[in-house]
Parts: sequence; C-alpha cells; structure tokens
Amino acid sequence: MQPRLKSIAVVQRPAEVILVGRAMELTYLADPDGSVAALLQILAQGAHPVTGLPAAMRERGFTVTEADMAAAVAALDEVGVLLPADTDAGLDPDTLRRYESNLRFYDLFAGLERPGAAFHRAMRDADVLLLGAGGVGSGVLQSLVGLGAGRVRLVDFDVVEEKNLARQFAYNRADVGRAKVDAARDWAVRYSPGTTAVEAVHERVADAATIRRLGAGASVVVSCIDSPSDIQLLVNEACFELGVPFVTGGLQYSTLFYWSVEPGVSPCRLCLELNRADEGATQEFEQSVMMSAEFVNRATGPVAQLLAGFMALETGRYLTRTDPPVAAATYHTFDLTDGMRTTQEPWPRHPGCTLCHPAPGA
Ligand SMILES: [Zn+2]
Repeated sequence: MQPRLKSIAVVQRPAEVILVGRAMELTYLADPDGSVAALLQILAQGAHPVTGLPAAMRERGFTVTEADMAAAVAALDEVGVLLPADTDAGLDPDTLRRYESNLRFYDLFAGLERPGAAFHRAMRDADVLLLGAGGVGSGVLQSLVGLGAGRVRLVDFDVVEEKNLARQFAYNRADVGRAKVDAARDWAVRYSPGTTAVEAVHERVADAATIRRLGAGASVVVSCIDSPSDIQLLVNEACFELGVPFVTGGLQYSTLFYWSVEPGVSPCRLCLELNRADEGATQEFEQSVMMSAEFVNRATGPVAQLLAGFMALETGRYLTRTDPPVAAATYHTFDLTDGMRTTQEPWPRHPGCTLCHPAPGA
C-alpha cells in the first residue's frame, strides 16, 4: 500500500512544518533539518510504498531507515493527513465521475486503514426509511440521491399542491394533484437513473407498528413528519425495537431544529420527555396553552433546504461513520431571525427510561 498525503495546506517555517487539517486543525511538526518537509513532498506524490521511502529520501539528501519511515507514516496517519494513494480503488469509472466530489469529501475522513471508496460503498449499501415527502423530506431525498444512497423507502400520504412549489423542489407544476411519493420517485429516476432505488410507499404513519414494519431492514430512519403529535415518541419506540438510529427535525416559529437518537448508544427521545416531566415546566406550560399555532407552515425554500441539508449530513454520519453523529441526543437549533443564533443542547439519559434501561427480565 502506498501512502499519499491528503490534499491539504502545508506551511513551512524555520525548523517547523504546520499541517492544516480538517476543521482547520493545525498540527505542528518540528523539522530542524528539513527532513519532515522532504518526506511530506514525497508523500504528496503518493508514488512510493513505505519500503521505497528511504531511497526517495536519500535522493533528497536524507539518510533514514525503513523503521523511521514506518514510524513517521504511522504518526502522520494518526493525525489524519494520509490516505492510500489508490483511495478510489475498486470503483468503476461511472461511479468515479458521478460521485467525484463525494469521494473527495470522504477523503477528509479516510485513513490508511479506510480508503475513501469504503465510505461511498457504505452509502451505496444504505437502506433508508424516509418518513415524509414534504419540504424537508423531499430535500433529504434529493441529498440522499446525490450522495448515492442505495435504497430509499419514501413514505407519505399527501398529494402535491401548488403551495408546495415554494419550497419542495423535487416537484413541478405538472405534479400538482399527484401523490408526492410517486412524483418524488419519478424525480429521482429522471435525475439519476440506475443509482438510488426509490420505493414509493403511499401510506399514512399513525403508530409505532407501521414504522416498525416499514423500517425492517433499514440502516437508518429519517423522520420528516410532524403528525400525529407524538410522532417523535412513536419513531423512538419503533427504532429501539428495530435497533436502528433515527434523525429528525422541524421548524417551530422561526426556530429550525434537528436531533438524532442511536438506540443503545445515546439517550433517547423518551429520556428527553421524562427529563422535561421532572422539570415540570413543559407540562405546566403545555396545559396552559390557549391557542396552538402548530398547523401554520412558515417554512420557505431556503429554510427547508437548510434543515434537509443538516439532517442529510447527520444521516450520512450514521450511514458512513465519517465522524460521530453530532446531534445524537443533542438538540441543535438555529433561529432564522434575530441574528441566526444557534444552540446545541445535549440531554442526559433518564434513569426511569424503560427503553434505555429495560426492567430486569424484560
Ligand atoms: Zn431513553
């Protein structure tokens, strides 16, 4: 295997080299004799196996052993700046052309043990249950197709209405009156034939049993529906039984939010409800609500796209494990007015949660 330096910025200063990695993280390497800089230049070509590095270094005037080079390569891999020179190996030419930018994104997370192609394969093997084909759901679908997800089961009961065209860009005027799932599937076929298989499921989701049935075999569930009112708990319950992570989000007034749950790993949605009940504040507040605004949809196109993007990214983390899910049991909010304030609030496991802490013998 030939290691190659990732396409990153490298800064050379007197007796020091600085690697600019992912998230602009800086790694400082002492380099009093210039040998580190020489090695990085050699590795940028990705033309030598580790056993060939001593000869390449000798050409640049440095005498090193193979053990020195193996240690240096391992250290550089540890800080995440190396990938295999053939990081795309095994992918056919069509795939390389179609998904090139995705593959270069995966390179950021690749290492000598896991080439970029492995992330794409994980996406290609994915089977996503996507609940809802509205503003957020259709946007998530578009992202998943762009990412090359293997299969999406898209569930929705609505038909396309003219007002949807303000933010649901998978549909056009000719789709008005058609079932959203059919129109969305047709969009995927037109957009990227022969890649993501989209299965249209014209069904209303009203209970955990339905989600469990539809979600059998899924790698992840993405919930983009807001009814019935306890939908989050229903998805939570079904996903626990399936042992499948889920991602969800929405818009309340001017605040966009999303979060996810990884059953058995992160605290769950029921934990959040129980935590809130302990605090008492929510219940008291909810019991005092005189008028509800829940049926007003204020989502504009950019809002739906933003939310769909954040949710698709989180879904991608579960599917490819590029990096850990950022929203697992963590409420992410973005207020779209008042200066785009953002918050990230993790919630703890609740000791009384029957899903996270099953009773003995249960
Ligand atoms: Zn729980």
